[in-house]
Amino acid sequence: MLKPSIKSLLLDELAHQLALRGEPSYRARQITGWLYKKRVDSFAAMTDLPASTRAYLAEQFSFVGPEVVRVLGSKDTTQKFLFRLADGNLIESVLIPASPALYGEASDRRTACISTQVGCAYGCKFCASGLDGFSRNLDPAEIVDQLLAVEANSGQKIDNIVFMGMGEPLANLTYLLHAIGIINAPWGLEIGARHITISTSGLAPQIRKLATEPTQFRLAISLHGATDAVRSQIMPVNRKYNLATLLEACDYYVARKKRLMFEYILIAGINDTDEQAHKLAKLAARLSAKINLIPYNTVEGLEWSRPSRNRQESFLRILRDHGAVATLRREKGHDINAACGQLRLQTRRAERKERSPA
Ligand code: SF4
Repeated sequence: MLKPSIKSLLLDELAHQLALRGEPSYRARQITGWLYKKRVDSFAAMTDLPASTRAYLAEQFSFVGPEVVRVLGSKDTTQKFLFRLADGNLIESVLIPASPALYGEASDRRTACISTQVGCAYGCKFCASGLDGFSRNLDPAEIVDQLLAVEANSGQKIDNIVFMGMGEPLANLTYLLHAIGIINAPWGLEIGARHITISTSGLAPQIRKLATEPTQFRLAISLHGATDAVRSQIMPVNRKYNLATLLEACDYYVARKKRLMFEYILIAGINDTDEQAHKLAKLAARLSAKINLIPYNTVEGLEWSRPSRNRQESFLRILRDHGAVATLRREKGHDINAACGQLRLQTRRAERKERSPA
């Protein structure tokens, strides 16, 4: 049986395990210091621990991080990482450079886009991640390890995280919150909650659960349609949680927490009409939500296309005329939502071909 990763434990869980062995109370902090500050890659490297403690840790826990299979892009551009997990599954993470930013405005933050599941069960029609179906949830260590591996392989310090990679984050809520506990903690990766954004396709019950979480991370709702008829064409999840149900959950969230934002991928002839823009502006006003417009990025195997620049700009203008706070992503190469999952899909298909030559 696989041992649990040492990076799946919160500080108090680690302290509890060590206390059972009679270790001193400062021991857990020594270990998290080695893991998240000094970033060593073995128990043997934790040189200020007694040999017996290191042997105990090695016996109980694993230390394996993901293997880097491919890296696309360069230091100044968006970089994509394809990782192989201990069980052979492939996942993707993306590093977006300091400027230009994810949402229109310039930013000095380096953002990592992180996966939360292997594959995805939700099948949004603009996304390659769901094309091969869902395999499994990532555990907390596999989520945290993506950040450590991206930093180690890029030489850059990440200070902003979006959970918009492969998978529906709220379908893996327990492990996600556990991982955020490590990412956000002063003893862990120390990334402030306001620099952590969770994205969801609209799982209404889990949005209500999140509303009661004390940590003030940000929530992005992938809306992509302002009426049920349009949204259901793009996002099958809308048949389970329609707009009325989703928006009620959002009302509940906004009443208890902070702000949320809408993500809206503009797809030519599907959701880019004036009517959708007027309706979207009204939904945003109801929740005081900021809107991020993202021009559709072509996905191999899917037939939609991005609207003309004029259409994108007039959609934006209608939103702003209503007083909505909206941005339009104008740079190329940062189309994370749409592009996510494609590298994995191509690699999986190539590997399958190699295994079964025609
Ligand atoms: S957009 Fe997110 S929820 Fe939808 S299929 Fe892709 S990974 Fe799944």
